[in-house]
Amino acid sequence: MKITIIGGGIGGLTTAIALQQKGIEVEIFEAASEFREVGAGITLAINSMQIYKRMGMLEKIQSHGNKLDGFQITDNKLNILSYVDISDLEKKYKVGNVAIHRAKLQEVLLNELQACPIHLGKKLIKLHQKDGNVHLEFEDGTFHQTKVLIGADGIHSAVRRSIFPNSKERHAKQICWRGITDFDLGEGYHYIAREAWGIGRRIGIVPIAPGKVYWYACLSYKHSAKEIDNERLSDLFSRFHPLASDIISSTKKENIITAELGDLELIPEWHKGNVCLLGDAAHATTPNMGQGANQAIESAWILSECLKGENDIKKAYAQYQKIRQPKATMVVKKSWGIGKIAHMSNPLLAKIRNLLFSMTPDTLAKKQLKKLFDLND
Ligand SMILES: Cc1cc2nc3c(=O)[nH]c(=O)nc-3n(C[C@H](O)[C@H](O)[C@H](O)COP(=O)(O)OP(=O)(O)OC[C@H]3O[C@@H](n4cnc5c(N)ncnc54)[C@H](O)[C@@H]3O)c2cc1C
Repeated sequence: MKITIIGGGIGGLTTAIALQQKGIEVEIFEAASEFREVGAGITLAINSMQIYKRMGMLEKIQSHGNKLDGFQITDNKLNILSYVDISDLEKKYKVGNVAIHRAKLQEVLLNELQACPIHLGKKLIKLHQKDGNVHLEFEDGTFHQTKVLIGADGIHSAVRRSIFPNSKERHAKQICWRGITDFDLGEGYHYIAREAWGIGRRIGIVPIAPGKVYWYACLSYKHSAKEIDNERLSDLFSRFHPLASDIISSTKKENIITAELGDLELIPEWHKGNVCLLGDAAHATTPNMGQGANQAIESAWILSECLKGENDIKKAYAQYQKIRQPKATMVVKKSWGIGKIAHMSNPLLAKIRNLLFSMTPDTLAKKQLKKLFDLND
C-alpha cells in the first residue's frame, strides 16, 4: 500500500514519518515550491512530545528547542494573574513542554523522513473518487491517481472542500502579528512562557533559545482587519509593560508575520471513501491553547496506528476518527472560549476577569492540562 499525503506542514510530515516507521510507503504533494523558513515559534506541549518520544525524535527536538517550566497569565503590566508550574506534570509524563523555532522543527521532520518522494509546487485544486481510485488535479495542470489519500493541507484544505463542500471556516475577528527577535528576557524568564492580557488585545512572550524570543501580539477588530492602522505596531500595545513594545520594536518589520485568527466549524465526518483529513484540515482550532499542531501530531500518530496492518482503509479511518474526534473537538471549543475571555473589550469586565483569574487555584488549571496531556490510546 502506498499512501498519498497532500500538504507538507507539521501534520503531513509527522504522518509521513509515522507511516514510514510502520513500513508503509508514502508520497507527499506540497503546494509551496520550496520548504521556506517560517519566522515564528511554536510550543510543543507534553501531549505531542510524548508522541515524538514514541517516534524516537524527543532528543532531536529538545536539542533545538527550549524547555518551558511553566506559563504565566499576566495583566498588561506583566503582573502575574496565574502561574502554572508544570514540573510535576513533566515527572508524571516523563517529557516536558518545548518551545522551538518552526524552521528548526521543520528541519528535524524533513531530516527524519526516509527516502520519500516530495513533489513541491503541487497545489491541489480538486479531487474526485471513482471505482476505488482518487483522482487528483493540480494547479499546474497535472494529474495524479492514488488509492489512499490523506488531506493534511491546512485550514483552507482543498481536499476537505472537495469531499465536504459545505464545511466552513470561522473568523475570530482577531488579527495576530508574530515575530522572533534577539532579546534577553533577564534572569528567571528563560524557561517561562507569558501571555499578557489587556483590553481587546494580548501579547505572548516565549523564549525559544538562549537570547531568542518568539512573540505574538493579537488585537480584536469590529468589522474588518483593514480598520487597524498598524504602521507603528508597538503603539497598538503602548498600554502594556515597556518590555512588550521593546520586544516588538526590536523585530525587523519585514520579519513580522500577520495572520487572521480563526478555526473550522466542527465537521461531523473526517473521511469519505478513500480520503481522510488530518490536522488543521480536519480540526483547525484558534491558537489560544497553543494546541493546533499538537493535535495534528496526535492525529498523525493515531492515524498511522489505525492504518498499520489494516487492509480495510475505511475501517481504519473510522477507528481514527472515533479515537481522535472527542479530544480535538474539546480543544476547538475550549480554545474559542479562551480567545473571547482573553480579548474582553469592556474595561470593567476585563478587571473582573483578571481578579477571577488571580483567585483561581493552579490545581484547577493542572486538572485541565492533564486532560490535554493524556493521550487517547
Ligand atoms: C498565531 C498562531 C500561533 C500558533 N501557535 C501554536 C502553538 O504554539 N502550538 C501549536 O500546537 N499550534 C499552534 N498554532 C497552530 C498550528 O500552526 C497549526 O495547527 C498547524 O500548523 C497545523 O498543521 P497542519 O500540517 O495541519 O497544517 P499547515 O501547517 O497549515 O500545513 C499545511 C500544508 O499544506 C500545504 N497546502 C495547503 N494547501 C495545499 C494544496 N491545495 N495543495 C497542496 N498543498 C497544500 C501548505 O503549503 C502547508 O505546507 C498556531 C497558529 C497560529 C495562527
